[in-house]
Amino acid sequence: MANRYRTHNCGELNSRHIGQGISVAGWVNRRRDHGGLIFIDLRDRSGLLQVVFNPQVTEEAYRIATEMRPEYVVRITGEVARRPPGTENPRIPTGEIELIAREVEILNASRPMPFPIGDKSGIDESVRLKYRYLDLRRPQMQQNMMLRHSVIKFIRDFLDARGFIEIETPILLKSTPEGARDYLVPSRLYPGKFYALPQSPQQLKQLLMVSGFEKYYQIARCFRDEDQRADRQPEFTQLDLEMSFVDEDDVLDLIEELFTSLMVEIKPEIRIVKPFPRLSYHEVIERFGTDKPDLRFGLELADISDIVADSEFGVFRTTIAGGGTVKGFSVPGCADYSRKQQAELVEFVRTRGAKGLVTMAIEGEDSSADLSLDKVRSAVTRFFTLDQVRAMVKRLHAGPGDLLLFVADKSEVVNTVLSQLRLEMADRLGLADFNLMVFAFIQDYPLMEWNKEGDRWDSVHHPFTAPRDEDIPLLDTDPGRVRSRHYDFVCNGYELSSGSIRIHDSQIQEKIFKLLGYSGEEVRERFGHLLEALEFGAPPHGGIAPGIDRFVMLLAGEENIREVIAFPKTKSAIDLMTNAPDAVSEDQLRELHLMLRGVESQNFP
Ligand code: ASP
Repeated sequence: MANRYRTHNCGELNSRHIGQGISVAGWVNRRRDHGGLIFIDLRDRSGLLQVVFNPQVTEEAYRIATEMRPEYVVRITGEVARRPPGTENPRIPTGEIELIAREVEILNASRPMPFPIGDKSGIDESVRLKYRYLDLRRPQMQQNMMLRHSVIKFIRDFLDARGFIEIETPILLKSTPEGARDYLVPSRLYPGKFYALPQSPQQLKQLLMVSGFEKYYQIARCFRDEDQRADRQPEFTQLDLEMSFVDEDDVLDLIEELFTSLMVEIKPEIRIVKPFPRLSYHEVIERFGTDKPDLRFGLELADISDIVADSEFGVFRTTIAGGGTVKGFSVPGCADYSRKQQAELVEFVRTRGAKGLVTMAIEGEDSSADLSLDKVRSAVTRFFTLDQVRAMVKRLHAGPGDLLLFVADKSEVVNTVLSQLRLEMADRLGLADFNLMVFAFIQDYPLMEWNKEGDRWDSVHHPFTAPRDEDIPLLDTDPGRVRSRHYDFVCNGYELSSGSIRIHDSQIQEKIFKLLGYSGEEVRERFGHLLEALEFGAPPHGGIAPGIDRFVMLLAGEENIREVIAFPKTKSAIDLMTNAPDAVSEDQLRELHLMLRGVESQNFP
């Protein structure tokens, strides 16, 4: 690698190089003056190297070293030496050696840093994002970017070896419905017309199947103008994938093999569960209250409506009589929760939409078969018979020492709230193992759900998802009961991707568009190309699109996808480094045939 600047990378030097003359180049990570000697930790992408400037060795280099400040860019030539005994640093790979500088050149100076390169704690994220190019110098960020690179390279190699080809699709496109708002780009050449940035290459990958490519993938950028969260960005990256002549299991088997081998190769220290569980939508909602369950721990929900429907407890009874549900779960070892702790849990469920929370602490050490009512600490014990309490305890697989938590409401509310309370309790008890990733597939979703406000059906996934063959007749009679060929891929409580076997019959596709409330004209205008393509010998096909950012975030042990994206936007969709979005000139607007109406240029919040 020797060139004008360097013969070696800092981090690759070790005791084998002792006695050799070498050159290195990089950034001054730290400078220490020590009784007539100057020490510098020099940093390049590969790591740190200690450099010693001794005026007895060379006065000139020593003098230059006195001028060096953090983040100066320097080139240093010298000799690798063993560190004096007792001064080794076992925490860094080059800790046994140091470079005795003989010649040094300052290649560039640096202004004082807005924050120290090193630990990110205590640094406001907005400062990090404004100076993202400096933030990215931090070793943690460098590791995250390299991890991301390794993941993408692994995916490319894996799919290439299995006959997939990578095909790029356009960014300037027509609106594709994926359930979010589009980003629009005005056309200069065609006044009043707009391109839409793709929410995903969904239709294009299907068209590539019509073209006969059979196995396509792309590391694709997707754009969705929706409210931001820690795991969302206005633009994000998917492994977009599509295959012809496949059923669900073909796609899921491929994804299982890809993610298994990827984990073994890239993060062998993280355990996974094989085979990946394949669970039905109905089952996960019952057991975990959500279709993206964290399967690293139990705390499973159970429905006790049948047990308490005739109890003396009015809240449970009337909820069930009104069509609602009572569900709960048992938290091991929390029977000694104080009033204050229980009040916190009540507050937790209230702020998430439940009216209240019923708690029951099972005291004592006897087995639950011997349970008596005086062992049940709860404000509502008196409303239940011993048999009812025993049945509840049994249904929740609870025992002495456990705290039982119940919510009564409409089933959507019960599930949403309890799924969050389940995560909260797991967090409090430290049940989620950071060295475990439990991947799972969720299947058997309904195809459509009724949208009351819109007075129409909405796709649960997207409108191109195929219904189960045997349910096709129900499209005419009872669309809400049609099961779809959609699957989700989840891990540790995150949705990594959705996918499906697609509709390849234009008549069924047209029927679905109609059910979704599109008029004949809208269908022709928005989807005419797809419907037409399906009439030219479209093969059966299906695919999936795992989110790369979210997956790398999990692998990196980060809690925010911004940590694994080089230049992300803030939660309010702003690029703080370049100040985008930004106003444009009158000329630009005129060229695009645009006029701003009632908009005052707004400063960022
Ligand atoms: N295009 C879909 C999405 O972005 C994924 C797929 O169905 O393959 O969610």
